[in-house]
Amino acid sequence: MALESKQKAEQGAPVRVPRTAVNTAERANGQAAEAKPIVISMKDVNVHYGNFHAVSGVSHDIRQNAITAFIGPSGCGKSTVLRSINRMNDLIPTARVEGRIEYHGQDVNARDVDPVEVRRRIGMVFQRPNPFPKSIYENVAWGARINGYKGDMDELVERVLTRAALWDEVKDKLKESGLSLSGGQQQRLCIARALAPNPDVILLDEPASALDPISTLKIEELLRELETEYTIIIVTHNMQQAARVSDETVFFSLNEQRQGILVEAGETNKIFTNPDDERTEAYITGRFG
Ligand code: ADP
Repeated sequence: MALESKQKAEQGAPVRVPRTAVNTAERANGQAAEAKPIVISMKDVNVHYGNFHAVSGVSHDIRQNAITAFIGPSGCGKSTVLRSINRMNDLIPTARVEGRIEYHGQDVNARDVDPVEVRRRIGMVFQRPNPFPKSIYENVAWGARINGYKGDMDELVERVLTRAALWDEVKDKLKESGLSLSGGQQQRLCIARALAPNPDVILLDEPASALDPISTLKIEELLRELETEYTIIIVTHNMQQAARVSDETVFFSLNEQRQGILVEAGETNKIFTNPDDERTEAYITGRFG
């Protein structure tokens, strides 16, 4: 079965990068965000690594064209849940995912769904920038090529690097190694590589934790720009970052059996100023975690 998704109309057409802040009105009004369609729906997700029950009973809906932050103490399953969404846990031999994860209503774990196709629609960026030891151009072209892109590759590379706010810095050295770039530029190159196969969801696992503060802010600004076109989930251990960059926040913690659980989710402003659960309150005020 082919996964259905909102195809991008501009595939092949130049994309203009909006430079202005987005969603200000919507963020001031949580109801607008609530009205957005659901892209990812998790229902009673449990993840085991061998005999270890790492994540227990997570249910949550992720809304379109919003940035959702996963926060919580180390080891509470944020990355595990993130990796379950695009079937990256398939690559960990001991991992077992139970429950249902839907992408636009389709079960990503259904037998006839190709995990490679899932990962094309739901791209991923990791903690450490990991460009291939290839040219800047090839880093971007690779993702499109393995998905059989038949269009104008030069155009696509420029469009995607522009979208990742990197084009102006690299346009005169596209043949140089991706590894020659600074850490922040490498991470934007990895974001460009993730955008090349035309996904509609981007998962980022602590994408700025290895970067300096200026590069971190650039990544955050970029995510805000990408939000107009993509659905974004970011794992972060940095609460200020979650507060700055996200529309929705999901707080995970550990239960008494040391299993990761979802404690509370909601509009970021509410989670950080007036959470319903005292465990969330304890965490965001620094009394725990
Ligand atoms: P977080 O992202 O919140 O720090 P993780 O999802 O990385 O948490 O980890 C949740 C739990 O699962 C932790 O106890 C961690 O040690 C364990 N875990 C994560 N990855 C693996 C793995 N590949 N094999 C075994 N246990 C793992």
